[in-house]
Amino acid sequence: LGGCIEVICGSMFSGKTEELIRRVNRARIAKVQVEIFSPVADTRYDKSSVVSHNLNSIPSVPVSKSADILPLADHIQVVGIDEAQFFDDNLPEVCLQLANSGVRVIVAGLDMDFKGRPFGSMPQIMAMAESVTKLHAVCVKCGSQAMYSYRLVPDDSKILLGEKESYEARCRKCYNLDGSI
Ligand code: ADP
Ligand code: MG
Ligand code: ZN
Repeated sequence: LGGCIEVICGSMFSGKTEELIRRVNRARIAKVQVEIFSPVADTRYDKSSVVSHNLNSIPSVPVSKSADILPLADHIQVVGIDEAQFFDDNLPEVCLQLANSGVRVIVAGLDMDFKGRPFGSMPQIMAMAESVTKLHAVCVKCGSQAMYSYRLVPDDSKILLGEKESYEARCRKCYNLDGSI
């Protein structure tokens, strides 16, 4: 009863974490049991909370693999997952299992990597979700809607943890202007 998958996706700085926090807080107001999980790989801020770029935060449980979520989600009605793109390939299966057993699963993550390619298991989760919300940031070059996370540093690895020093939000035109590094 009530199980579903909701995806919140978009580029860096698009407001995914803020939107996740907003939805989770509303569930809390409704006195629903909530738990938020984040990958231990994401060590940018506090390990035991999810923090947005304007420093809103909410407690979270850091987990090293997606299968760890299932036993920890026992008796939880709303499960939030942030930075979903950093989890392993088993995350879609975990989300499906939770939703099918009646849990509302809210998944936030980057839909594209810095090369503009689908990131991790986000496409699979989006395909199986009841709702997909794609948020946009503001292009730092021209002010229009940004959907790309442009990497400012010359590093070709898929995962490079960083913030404003390493990435900026760009629209299609400005992203393609300089080419991706
Ligand atoms: P995400 O989780 O998608 O990376 P956050 O929810 O952490 O995004 O942060 C969104 C906030 O980032 C915005 O409310 C705004 O204060 C800030 N911000 C900084 N740079 C930008 C940008 N280029 N476009 C939009 N918001 C930005
Ligand atoms: Mg975020
Ligand atoms: Zn632009």
